[in-house]
Amino acid sequence: MDHVISGVAKFQKEVFPGKKARFSELAEGQSPEVLFITCADSRIDPNLVTQTEPGELFICRNAGNVVPPHSSQTGGMTASIEFAVAALGVSHIVVCGHTDCGAMKGAIEPEKLESLPHVKEWLGHCRSATEVVRDRNGSLSTENLDEVTAENVVQQLQHLRTHPAVATGLASGRVTLHGWVYNIGSGEVLCFDEETRDFKPMDERYRAIFGDLPEAGGNDCC
Ligand code: ZN
Repeated sequence: MDHVISGVAKFQKEVFPGKKARFSELAEGQSPEVLFITCADSRIDPNLVTQTEPGELFICRNAGNVVPPHSSQTGGMTASIEFAVAALGVSHIVVCGHTDCGAMKGAIEPEKLESLPHVKEWLGHCRSATEVVRDRNGSLSTENLDEVTAENVVQQLQHLRTHPAVATGLASGRVTLHGWVYNIGSGEVLCFDEETRDFKPMDERYRAIFGDLPEAGGNDCC
């Protein structure tokens, strides 16, 4: 814990002064463009992976990057999604799963979660993903971890659509959904393609955006 505490001192002394103007702006309010929903796993740093700064991503995290389907019951995710879309007016929502996800392993083998009753119940929101994969393969085991992880992103996107603020944003074209899987070991991000219903490398999925970027290691860099 010591390095976490001394990290705050380092931030205040060495980092904050260089970004003072930006933090003064942020002190007056936020207008993020993106709601970023990902797993609570310590190995994921949304701002690092997307190379974004404070104020750019409205981040919601939980075990398994779960979005409970909308219901009349209030929950932290439901309230945060409503606030991000209806109050802040985010125009993009990313659901980002990741490789080696402990929550997905738990969803595949819920019988191992008897001592974690809340985790077990929470991961019930991933059941549609595990059942789709089980049906597709005729069986389900940890061998299917990557497939469950990807299918879970697709199913949580489906749950997102049941939230009234999201449904309204989608109907009017104000909101766009994105499904990603981040590979911790390689840094690669696979992205769901709604048309072909499969996951593609990010540069292929967002060719229009990537086309404007210099090739990694190319000569276009300053
Ligand atoms: Zn995870």
